[in-house]
Amino acid sequence: MKKETSVFDFSRNYEPADVLTKVKAKNAGKPKFNFLDGPVTANAPLCLHHGWGRTLKDAYNRYNSLIGKEVDYVWGFDAQGMWVEVEVEKLLGLNNKKEITQYGVDKFTEKCIERVNFFKNRQTEQSKLFEQLGDWERSYITNSDKNITSIWHFLKVCHDKKMLKQSYKTMPWCPRCGTSLSEHEMSGSYKERTHKAVFVKAKLVGRDERILVWTTTPWTLAANMAIAINPEFTYCKCQVKSDSNLLIVCEKQIKVLRDDLVKIVEKVKGTDLVGLTYEPFLPLRKQAFEHKIVPWDQVDEIDGSGAVHIAPGCGAEDFALGMKLNMTPFIIPVAENGTFYDDFEWLAGLSTVDCEPVIFEQLKQNQTLYYHHDYTHNYPFCWRCKTDVIFRLVAGYDIATDGIRNDLLKAADTVHWTPDFMGKSMRQWLTDMGDWNISRRRFYGLPLPFYPCEKCGHLNVIDSKEELRARAIDPHKVDALPHLHRPYIDEIQITCEKCHAPVSRVTDVGDCWLDAGIAPFSTKPKGQFKAEMVLEMKEQIRLWFYAQLFMSVVLTGEAPYKNVVGYSTIVDEDGKKFSKTGPRKVYIEDVVKQYGADVLRYAFASANPTLDMRFGDNIAEDAKRRLLALWNAYVFYTTYAMVDKPDVKNYQPENLAPIDLWLVQLTNQYIQATREAYDHFKIHQVVKLTDDFVEDISNFYIRVNRRRYWKNGEDQDKMNAYWCLFQALRSVVIVLTPLVPSYAQYLWENCFGEGEEPVMLANYPMPLKIKSKINLLEAVNFVKQVISLGLSLRAENQIAIKQPLSKLYIKTDKVDTITMFAAIIQDQLNVKRIEIVTDDEKFNVAYLTVNFKKAGAILKNRVQELKNALQDSRQMAEYVAAYDAGEKINIANFNPLTPDLFERKLAPRSGFVITSVNDVTVVLDTQITDDLMLEGIARELIRSIQLERMNQKLNITDRIVVDLKTADKKLYAAACAHQPRIMKEVLATEMHVVEGKGENEIHIRLA
Ligand SMILES: [Zn+2]
Ligand SMILES: [Zn+2]
Repeated sequence: MKKETSVFDFSRNYEPADVLTKVKAKNAGKPKFNFLDGPVTANAPLCLHHGWGRTLKDAYNRYNSLIGKEVDYVWGFDAQGMWVEVEVEKLLGLNNKKEITQYGVDKFTEKCIERVNFFKNRQTEQSKLFEQLGDWERSYITNSDKNITSIWHFLKVCHDKKMLKQSYKTMPWCPRCGTSLSEHEMSGSYKERTHKAVFVKAKLVGRDERILVWTTTPWTLAANMAIAINPEFTYCKCQVKSDSNLLIVCEKQIKVLRDDLVKIVEKVKGTDLVGLTYEPFLPLRKQAFEHKIVPWDQVDEIDGSGAVHIAPGCGAEDFALGMKLNMTPFIIPVAENGTFYDDFEWLAGLSTVDCEPVIFEQLKQNQTLYYHHDYTHNYPFCWRCKTDVIFRLVAGYDIATDGIRNDLLKAADTVHWTPDFMGKSMRQWLTDMGDWNISRRRFYGLPLPFYPCEKCGHLNVIDSKEELRARAIDPHKVDALPHLHRPYIDEIQITCEKCHAPVSRVTDVGDCWLDAGIAPFSTKPKGQFKAEMVLEMKEQIRLWFYAQLFMSVVLTGEAPYKNVVGYSTIVDEDGKKFSKTGPRKVYIEDVVKQYGADVLRYAFASANPTLDMRFGDNIAEDAKRRLLALWNAYVFYTTYAMVDKPDVKNYQPENLAPIDLWLVQLTNQYIQATREAYDHFKIHQVVKLTDDFVEDISNFYIRVNRRRYWKNGEDQDKMNAYWCLFQALRSVVIVLTPLVPSYAQYLWENCFGEGEEPVMLANYPMPLKIKSKINLLEAVNFVKQVISLGLSLRAENQIAIKQPLSKLYIKTDKVDTITMFAAIIQDQLNVKRIEIVTDDEKFNVAYLTVNFKKAGAILKNRVQELKNALQDSRQMAEYVAAYDAGEKINIANFNPLTPDLFERKLAPRSGFVITSVNDVTVVLDTQITDDLMLEGIARELIRSIQLERMNQKLNITDRIVVDLKTADKKLYAAACAHQPRIMKEVLATEMHVVEGKGENEIHIRLA
């Protein structure tokens, strides 16, 4: 043990390097805590917002080691997919897929792998800095062959269950990334955008009429195949100023004609328009076929003209209608990069954004433009690159969900969700979600093991690398693969299992959520896929939590986890979001340097994960202050224990004082409550329980027992005080280990540990086996309340705590409690005696007031006179005596008055101050006699000498000589009268008190 006077150095990590090896050895073969880490994308350094999740995950793992479970400490890295590609493209200055192909897919893939390996290492170092315990050699990474082939197996099972669908459908598509977005990638990615909307006029063939159509995506006009109207609506044929032809628009939206309207010429039913043909809006050879007006009950009258332009190649609803009405083959206007295909003549090569002025110009020339205007709406964007999404008809692969929706819901119901609203969110998501689109037209990702045979149409799905080799036309090519990625794997052809024709792989890669979702199966030993817990941000409901659940239910019929714990977002102290990509990015090592890892971890652990967490200097400072409360208690303990060297570890306490028993009970309660909080995944409650417990230790137990450590020599009472404080602090140190491992390790090493073993090898504390019949927790709470009332009375009445008072009255029925803790209350409130009373007479004085109602009736206008007489009277005691005896009362100029004309009330007697709360009343006798005054002065003097001892940095055992010179008669008298006590308290062997002129002088020196 080392004497501590300085403040703890949070910038150092005191945990020994071999701690993990020792922890693993200790718990090997014990029941397992099967944790699964959601892999972090190895594509950027860890930032502040990662700290929260990392703290919680590390803490739950460490806690489980402390309770004797076997824990793997394996962490994951997500290492392929679009995120990585986007960053490598930026780095290489590549702008689109064409440029990637020119650069070389092999070189591009190697750059991607280089990047994720770099960031995997960087993040590992950052995690170590953050004191995350990890078996870093065994980290898993999702670009491994093992992970990839585990997904292959999953896809094969899907295929066997007939869940794999190859389909054309309209997908949200990012033209920049050149890939589709799945439904769960779209959630949340909408923002308000202003686009050009346009009204166009379709010329009805053989009529002087034009039908008005509205669209917010002008580029899709190039893919127009029909116009839909609602057969139920009424449409108006209108004469307008701008056109000699009649314009047709639905009745409810006639306002879109604005002041162009001259008059309504005729009203017709929607059904009357069905089947009419019109000329295409744009002069394109692609559109040289008969265009018809078709009926559709989905047409509304809210926006536009009540006639909708239908482009099945550019919208999901249009696609559905096109399928229904057999409009195939559909026009698909734009390529993967969002530019028009070459056979779109004057549009060829233009993007869906750049084409707008050209399209407007052509519409004008074709006399089909009515007008365009700005239109603001919520529009989806790509979650990776923020580009506006377009809708495109895409050939892809889906996993059908309808067939297992019920199984998914059932599995989700077996899971315990914290907070529980996440369970409801998952239910909602599972109820609403559509098919899972798993194919992406990209380069660096999971190669889908799909080999569609062009000859016989059979879809070959490969289950494993072994199967790939077995069925490869050239197995040596499989042996030569550096890893299972494009472009290498694209070289391999297999034999169709149906017709034996050679078959190539589709070029698609997989959705990155397959990569992370397979982790329960790719990273755990066979049969151990079910995690005890997973913990991630709440939005993972639709992402990782979902992908895992889906894959696990397909493979096993069961949920992959027993407990799912979610946490929220970190915002700064003003409530704004910290961004991981924006200018506010804060790297974890910078905050660790600024505050210390343990301070950060404690701040994170303190936050309620249900709510957004605010983070900033004040939050960190507050966490540090709370941690240092424990430090101060520890410094107190070591300061005295250095001198006495109590052998607490081998001590058997006997005859514990009630206050000691209280601390034992409180410690036991703390141990049980924190264990429960950990077990229920409520770390923020562990923090709250700890802060409160440390507060009770420092601000109550230590404060009221201080003298027991000061006194000379060894006795049972002193040892008991050491033992109780030691056990309480030792429990806190172990309980805090998962949250602040370095700080706890330091305290353990220096004071509370046994031998050389690190605190991570300790067992979670067990309740102390000390029996006591009564519940002292409630009793001491009452005592604390009495003390606090007494202190507030002193403060309100400006009576210094050093000034002894003669008496404290307490009116209460908890006589036993007060008696048991009388010495403590007396000491804390600095009173000579306590008296428990049952009535108020001791310190209250009775007085009479006029009962105006009764007295008014009799005395009429003399009532006020009576009131004044009572107020002035020095004979109140006589009046009260008469009142109490039921006799008439004689007052000044009045005839004797009956008692019923008065009311009896109580006021504090002079010399008393009173306060009450609930059913306890506390009264201080404030009379200060000369003796009390001198004693008060003597105590102030003791305090001054103690301060001087501290200034001179004396050891607590140093003996001193005190010289006091004073002209103050009272101080002189006090010093003389209380000299033995002063000397004892300040450890003086000699004390010289002399009268002298001038300022008071106190000198101390070593004896
Ligand atoms: Zn994008
Ligand atoms: Zn075939």
